[in-house]
Amino acid sequence: MRNFFAQLFGGSCFLCRGSAAELLCKACDADLPRLTEPCCPRCALPSPRGEVCGRCLQEAPHYDATIAALAYAFPADVLVHALKFRGELALAGLLGGMLAEKIIPQGIDRVIPVPLSAARLRERGYNQSVEIARRLGAPLDLALCVRERDTPAQMDLPYAERKRNVRGAFRCTRSLGGARVAVVDDVMTTGATLNEVAAALKQAGAAHVVNWVVARTLPDV
Ligand SMILES: [Zn+2]
Ligand SMILES: [Zn+2]
Repeated sequence: MRNFFAQLFGGSCFLCRGSAAELLCKACDADLPRLTEPCCPRCALPSPRGEVCGRCLQEAPHYDATIAALAYAFPADVLVHALKFRGELALAGLLGGMLAEKIIPQGIDRVIPVPLSAARLRERGYNQSVEIARRLGAPLDLALCVRERDTPAQMDLPYAERKRNVRGAFRCTRSLGGARVAVVDDVMTTGATLNEVAAALKQAGAAHVVNWVVARTLPDV
């Protein structure tokens, strides 16, 4: 419907309300903080020559790789927030599309979104990670991993407590026999949630786990 009206009357940009043929006008689209600097292949934080960073060397995460499209900074944070909390599902197409440009789906056996607990899903009505993952063009495996424990939202907790908060929260429903799995999420901040998902996948026999995330929180510089 949006496209239909946009063609007839011209649409307005989701961010600046200026005229736009797409969800964003060209200027706002150009403002998005795309990640183009060399980064750690494992956690996607900046790393001068694109080598594995000191943090990952010191304490290797359960996931093997991370691909992120954007920095979690203005105005990408506005878009992610609107998708997650305001039901602006059209943004999943935009954000998923940006992620789709960066990922390499070859060699991946299964794609899963980070699951919400059943209670949280009922409350919100949708899982933003599922909506993003649907836009990647790869078949999704929604039943493979479940969130068993409802935990306080990570964003409400200090960084130091996030690891403990999600420990043991995920469980795989079947064995994975050496499969290569991609895990889709909207935002990666400390990586604690994705690390727990990867731990569950590895425990179920996954050989390789890669995170596909729309936005990566970067350290303050
Ligand atoms: Zn705009
Ligand atoms: Zn790293």
